[in-house]
Amino acid sequence: MATGRLAGKNAVITGAAGGIGLETSILFAKEGANVLMSDISAEALEKALAKVKQLVPGAGRVEVLKCDVSKESEVKAMVDAVDAWGGLDILFNNAGIMHAKDDDAVNTPEAIWDLTQNINVKGVWFGCKHAVLSLRRNKKTRASIINTASVVALMGAATPQLAYTTSKGAVLALTRELAMVHAREGFRFNSLCPAPLNTPLLQDWLGDDQAKRNRREVHFPGGRFGEAIEQAHAVVFLASDEASFVNGHDFAVDGGLTKAYVTAE
Ligand code: NAD
Repeated sequence: MATGRLAGKNAVITGAAGGIGLETSILFAKEGANVLMSDISAEALEKALAKVKQLVPGAGRVEVLKCDVSKESEVKAMVDAVDAWGGLDILFNNAGIMHAKDDDAVNTPEAIWDLTQNINVKGVWFGCKHAVLSLRRNKKTRASIINTASVVALMGAATPQLAYTTSKGAVLALTRELAMVHAREGFRFNSLCPAPLNTPLLQDWLGDDQAKRNRREVHFPGGRFGEAIEQAHAVVFLASDEASFVNGHDFAVDGGLTKAYVTAE
């Protein structure tokens, strides 16, 4: 018999082979959930699964499924796969990209705009759509859907990434509306808004350029970037019944970044 804050719940996580998705998969498994980890990269998924099994030897059901969230048929297959487990209880729509060629209004290529919206927005819509269909089909009266947005959906960033910023604003808006529309069915929808994290991508890019690093760290009241696991802990809360009255929220996990008044000195 599973124990933990998510005991017996069936969870699907997209982008589960990446930073936030993998840390969340580990914590969900530790908290007693059955977890279907999905990602566009089958190879990365296998490595991620091995890590979960190594770190959580007593985990319940943990499986992987390749899924490109921008393709509706694949998202449907992913959500429907847990019907055999008793049906979906938790969906973490977390997969997202920020393309290197994403830029300002003048320089963002249209193909990059479309690619970003297809994954970051349409992927979240497809996930929510098939979650609602699954929850109704399986006669669920409570469920939690968490969609990953970003602090750039809440405040302006001076480094241009217009397609990404637009996509995350859309995630906030669609999540909020779904939260209202489905509240009386017991389905909760919340957005997670992470601040920039201490991921290999960012750290490799910053390298040992201290000035570049300082320019960013100064915006954090605590003087540091966030860690993926700090996002994962928040997702466990939003997914659990402890958050039963938390709905339609823009849940910022940002070390206070969005509340900071920053001065040069
Ligand atoms: P990550 O790149 O480590 O993980 C993202 C995962 O999504 C990868 O495993 C990738 O293979 C997968 N993916 C990409 N395209 C996909 C697709 N079409 N279908 C399915 N999977 C796909 O990044 P992360 O930092 O863990 O980011 C997770 C989420 O958090 C993203 O939505 C991102 O925009 C958001 N976010 C990240 C930060 C940050 O600083 N890392 C800050 C704010 C928001």
